[in-house]
Amino acid sequence: MLYVYPDYYPEFSCIASRCQHSCCIGWEIDIDPDSLARYQAVHGPMGQRLKTCISDGEEPHFILGRDERCPFLNEENLCDLILYGGEDFICQICTDHPRFRNFLPGRTELGVGLCCEAAAHLILTRKDPVQLILSGEEEEAEEGKTLLVLRRHALEIAQDRTKSLSQREEELLEQFQGWVPELPPAQWAEFYLGLERMDETWTEHLENLRTHGTALDLSAFEIDMADRQTEYEQLLVYFLYRHFLTAWEDGDPGSKVSFAVLSVRFLRLLGALHWKMHGEFTLKDQEEYARLYSAEVEYSQENLDFLFDSLM
Ligand code: SF4
Repeated sequence: MLYVYPDYYPEFSCIASRCQHSCCIGWEIDIDPDSLARYQAVHGPMGQRLKTCISDGEEPHFILGRDERCPFLNEENLCDLILYGGEDFICQICTDHPRFRNFLPGRTELGVGLCCEAAAHLILTRKDPVQLILSGEEEEAEEGKTLLVLRRHALEIAQDRTKSLSQREEELLEQFQGWVPELPPAQWAEFYLGLERMDETWTEHLENLRTHGTALDLSAFEIDMADRQTEYEQLLVYFLYRHFLTAWEDGDPGSKVSFAVLSVRFLRLLGALHWKMHGEFTLKDQEEYARLYSAEVEYSQENLDFLFDSLM
């Protein structure tokens, strides 16, 4: 099996109790069969606690507590299951998250999801063009080769620093027959308001864009951001790397390229709005918008499917 990952991947580490938007809050965690069996074998006070905190219906999961916190996330924002049984004691989703995997025959691709603030920081602070690292044995598999060649081409366009970001975005759309409609900011806000939403902050940002997006001066914002273009490049590369290969299922790379370009353009719009309203747009702000966008859009299969279908 050949393993592929972006060069920053090995540097990821969870910031645990220092995390402002812990993935142990607000997400219902499903428990895999092996972990469930392990938990059911525990006796004593922890065994009792596990019994009370697990919903054992068709899809066993931890029952969220106050403020939608995982019942094992303690007051110091540390995981009581790790404190009790070590890293190997937690269930598969908790071990993996925010890492993701994509598969092609003979090939597994790994990455870290932008919905995690530590991952967003890692990705957005990368100055050099991201490189994909290959390790393991390449197995002869013809399937998917065309797709990989196409993605390599898409990534080359995204990382061509002789061109501006908007030129690269246009070139991507042109070469992959992609499509991102030219809509006023308020209409884009309406579009995203029509998707499934989880966090009220996200809704507030969209409503702000709907109300105040009319007179947005994107060119002035871009001038202000001139020396921070790598942030948008890294976002573009992240979305392409993560989603392009899902065209393996529907045969449509164009909608994946369009999604990547739209995501970057929409994050730029939100940045411009923030800049207009607050007089600045820091790296921290960028990380927070990217994290929120990813959690709301990328981590909802319903939203992703809708976007890919709409951009097809
Ligand atoms: S969101 Fe990221 S940094 Fe925060 S607790 Fe989860 S994995 Fe750790």
